[in-house]
Amino acid sequence: PSWEKRVRSSARVRSRNGISVLVTGAAGFVGTHVSVALKRRGDGVLGLDNFNNYYDQSLKRARQALLERTGVFVVEGDINDSALLKKLFEVVPFTHVMHLAAQAGVRYAMENPSSYVHSNIAGLVNLLEVCKSANPQPSIVWASSSSVYGLNTKVPFSEKDRTDQPASLYAATKKAGEEIAHTYNHIYGLSLTGLRFFTVYGPWGRPDMAYFFFTRDILKGKSIPIFEGADHGTVARDFTYIDDIVKGCLAALDTAEKSTGSGGKKKGPAQLRVFNLGNTSPVPVSDLVSILEKLLKVKAKRNIMKLPRNGDVQFTHANISLAQRELGYKPTTDLQTGLKKFVRWYLNYYSQGKKAAG
Ligand code: NAD
Repeated sequence: PSWEKRVRSSARVRSRNGISVLVTGAAGFVGTHVSVALKRRGDGVLGLDNFNNYYDQSLKRARQALLERTGVFVVEGDINDSALLKKLFEVVPFTHVMHLAAQAGVRYAMENPSSYVHSNIAGLVNLLEVCKSANPQPSIVWASSSSVYGLNTKVPFSEKDRTDQPASLYAATKKAGEEIAHTYNHIYGLSLTGLRFFTVYGPWGRPDMAYFFFTRDILKGKSIPIFEGADHGTVARDFTYIDDIVKGCLAALDTAEKSTGSGGKKKGPAQLRVFNLGNTSPVPVSDLVSILEKLLKVKAKRNIMKLPRNGDVQFTHANISLAQRELGYKPTTDLQTGLKKFVRWYLNYYSQGKKAAG
């Protein structure tokens, strides 16, 4: 069938490293960039995405069109669909899974908690069940999040710091994902690498994230809510540019060992790693607005709120020495440079008759 042909052709390996990757969440922000980078270097890539309506679906369709132009086919389906996943593994013996599908967003978790359980817990377990029974067993790289550090205020965050105080249900499900990964590594010998991304931004980004809707609202002349914690001062984020994150993802994939399939006993324990992928340079949200004002040449209407917001943490700051040592990860894009690229993309994308949703 033509569906099977498209799956095979998308996953066909064109370089000598023999890597064939199933990318979940491929029509998402990070998934699109990672899929394009893998395909361009000659890896086999198949995307999977359920195109949910958490944010503007037309943006996901536009990313899908970009992927198709690059030769990446995106299968429309859910990571909870075991039959579909098994079928994909039957057609393609994936060497790796890049698992980026998730219900993202901190505040939406208060509106729709079950979608977090569905995608970030049940979906992850379902995917790992299929991976554990696949032959060969793939190595898995998956997206965790800086949000696992929760209410921990000792910065910069390093991987050994406490992660037992999630500030949102999103964070709790990401933390649960790390525990679930541990179990599948221990019992089934799956090789797993978790990446704790820190506030990723860039072209094709997510409209629910501050830098994106600030840009839209500054251009519309709408006021920008800037939340400053009442007692604890500045709110800042370790904004990390997408190209740096992509390099970290590819390095994680390239250094991943094979799954041992043995639960550790005969062939030695399978690999289990967790890395921070951040920028080591937190920027106050008010400075983010100042940079956008300059780039857009429009003055923002700032609405400073002295309220801590439920679900948000005050400050994020990654210690990346482990990723630097083990993955050669070295972010090179500062916020000014990265936002310039985002704004250029944004103005171009929305000048083509598309409406900035929201
Ligand atoms: P995104 O929402 O743009 O991408 C996720 C994609 O997964 C979406 O296209 C969505 O349709 C798809 N998806 C969701 N649930 C699914 C399911 N059950 N089955 C199949 N597809 C499903 O988000 P993103 O910013 O690209 O994030 C990618 C990953 O990185 C996520 O795991 C996210 O939690 C994590 N992360 C992102 C950031 C960030 O700043 N962007 C920070 C930390 C962690």
